[in-house]
Amino acid sequence: MPEIRKDIFSNGWVIYSSKRSGRPNDYIDGDVKCPFCPGNEESTPPEIFRYPAKGKWQIRVVPNRYPALVEDEKNFYPISGFYEYMRGYGIHEVLVETPSHGGGFETFDKKRIEKIFEIYSDRYLAIKKEKNIKYVMVFKNVGKNAGASLRHPHSQIIGLPLIPTTVVNEINSSKKFYTKTGKCLFCETIKNEKKYSLRIVAENEDYIAFCPFSSRFFFETWIMPKRHESIFEMSGRDFSHLADIVKKVFGNLFFSVPDIAYNMIIHSSPSGHYDFYHWHIEILPKLASLAGFEWGSGFYINSLKPEEAANILRKRKKFVQE
Ligand SMILES: [Zn+2]
Ligand SMILES: [Zn+2]
Repeated sequence: MPEIRKDIFSNGWVIYSSKRSGRPNDYIDGDVKCPFCPGNEESTPPEIFRYPAKGKWQIRVVPNRYPALVEDEKNFYPISGFYEYMRGYGIHEVLVETPSHGGGFETFDKKRIEKIFEIYSDRYLAIKKEKNIKYVMVFKNVGKNAGASLRHPHSQIIGLPLIPTTVVNEINSSKKFYTKTGKCLFCETIKNEKKYSLRIVAENEDYIAFCPFSSRFFFETWIMPKRHESIFEMSGRDFSHLADIVKKVFGNLFFSVPDIAYNMIIHSSPSGHYDFYHWHIEILPKLASLAGFEWGSGFYINSLKPEEAANILRKRKKFVQE
């Protein structure tokens, strides 16, 4: 059974999960039998969802065979004394984005991207209802540098018994700003980015994509709804404009830096009174792994300013490292 322990020095959490170590890895082992390719469906746990419902599947959702957290809600009880810890309860699913072993948001057609986001939203809504789940997060690891173990295009959906530290920090900053000004920190950021314009990568009627002012990573890009919205998940939401901008951002990113490794995360508001929060997608490319200085200081060193990164992405130029 995994365990989650609080780091009393940083207020972060550490998950201990031995199940993760047995994962197949086609970046290390070469041609492992891909559990996500059609014909190998029996190598994943039974399906939670498939699209379309009948015939050959296009998208599948399955429980993660190597979960970071496990569904054992009976044994869930946080313990706090000097140390704070809890059983590693949670829900961990995998969304297989396509029957093809290659590709990604940069190559998928718009309809597939739209459907993937619709399913993210549906899984969010379903997992949120589970007892003791405090936060749901969608994330994606692509490429070895970004921690992926399988090449087959997939995303992960995780339901956590606590709110992640990164989200808590964003909530605290936006709450402080809201208390002081009565405004949303994210909406104000959009206003500033539009005025300055040099960090904008793409924009449509409903969404904006830009490289944040203090981008931690090379080509870091955030996508946000232009209208103030705290929650990503919504049944019946029209994802077509989101699919347009996602396709454009990834298309340009992969044109500028082919085969780039990246993580993508969706940050939505936790359940409760967080109306001042604004959901968004963070795309975090990984060129190199974090080194001693970053671990020691919490500062990031980035070789490319967001203004230059946005210029390359917006104009769809090839990135040439100096
Ligand atoms: Zn495959
Ligand atoms: Zn806002």
